[in-house]
Amino acid sequence: MNYVNSLEYAQNLDNADALAGFRQRFIFPQHEGQPALYFCGNSLGLQPDTVRAALHAELDQWGTYGVEGHFRGEHPWMHYHKFLTPQAARLVGALPHEVVIMNTLTVNLHLMMVSFYRPVRGGKYKIMMEAGAFPSDQYAVETQVRWHGFDPDDAIIELQGASGREEALKTEDIIEAIEREADQLALIMFGGVNYYTGQLYDLERIAATARKFGVCVGFDLAHAAGNVPLQLHDWGPDFAVWCSYKYLNSGPGGPSGCFVHERHANNPDLPRFGGWWGHDESERFQMRKGFKPMRGAEGWQLSNAQIFSFAAHKASLDLFDAAGMPALRAKSLLLSGFMRHILEEVNEQYGFCKIITPANPDQCGCQISLLTDERGREIFKYLEENGAISDWREPNVIRLAPVPLYNSFEDVWKLGQLFLSFFERQK
Ligand SMILES: *Cc1c(COP(=O)(O)O)cnc(C)c1O
Repeated sequence: MNYVNSLEYAQNLDNADALAGFRQRFIFPQHEGQPALYFCGNSLGLQPDTVRAALHAELDQWGTYGVEGHFRGEHPWMHYHKFLTPQAARLVGALPHEVVIMNTLTVNLHLMMVSFYRPVRGGKYKIMMEAGAFPSDQYAVETQVRWHGFDPDDAIIELQGASGREEALKTEDIIEAIEREADQLALIMFGGVNYYTGQLYDLERIAATARKFGVCVGFDLAHAAGNVPLQLHDWGPDFAVWCSYKYLNSGPGGPSGCFVHERHANNPDLPRFGGWWGHDESERFQMRKGFKPMRGAEGWQLSNAQIFSFAAHKASLDLFDAAGMPALRAKSLLLSGFMRHILEEVNEQYGFCKIITPANPDQCGCQISLLTDERGREIFKYLEENGAISDWREPNVIRLAPVPLYNSFEDVWKLGQLFLSFFERQK
């Protein structure tokens, strides 16, 4: 693409954008009477304008029916998780019975590791993951390893680029590491898109290589779901988990999604932690002894649905369904490409950062991470004071996520102008 850093060019792209109307469906924080330049959808997505009504509908349902709300109304609570399944499955490229919405992300990661991290002393007991994974994942893996009686320093293999965790990991190096360590690996647990670098990993090849060597493989798609196209069923990981409040715009603390591949759907012998909502629904209310899991991902549920957060999630998934992931991805590449072009132009002039997110579309989602020099914090603050919301990650990274559902090309151009005014002000 031959991008041009001008307002007119940005507005032309907006006029040609078939998804531009979705911007109106979101509520923007305001800055001096104008919508903020919101580039933080990788951390907390904006509120769809339908969420308030969706929550009110459930409050009314509760008020009108009390306990009968489990069986009456448009979306009886008894089956509420099922109303989310078809859309969630489409979003991650899964069969419906491979997906369930439940709990929160780190909880689901633990539940999945209970089933799919089955270390054997003296045999396969190690976990391989990317270095610099999101801290919650690091803690989950560390404590799982300890819980099984292993030493994290020995049992966790972290992969990083040759010059450190800011450098992109080469797929070839990941594959080679799996081949090298396969004899000792019990699980490969990778992020989809790394929260810090913004690198998208080749999940298909990682899953294929893991399976070739008989190693369990799972993905944390917190930064991938709703950001990049996924084909979980075809790629074949054993499990995947994600959250709904980042790119999926379902509100703070929103529920998590969980994928368990079809090949484990009918395996009641697979060890797991059970709860009544995972029990065979045809006899769930007979309240008898003896756990009999539901077929598929539903068999990992513990509790009955968290209706209010699920209702917000459903409202948001409706928008994803209406837009469609292929169209979102096409716009996303264009939008991020435009942002990258502008940032590179500013950087050529003022040399303040290194863009650590790979430029190759196969290796990135919408996020762009800037490893900044000593001016980074000040730039971040300047952006904030002038109505551009991004985020800061210690020690010196600014993350910017232009989100195709609600960001415009004009937003991106304006951001570029703010960067320029920061440096021009300093002269
Ligand atoms: C955001 C994020 C989390 C947060 O986990 P919660 O359980 O939802 O608080 C965990 N892992 C990754 C990779 C994330 O990006």
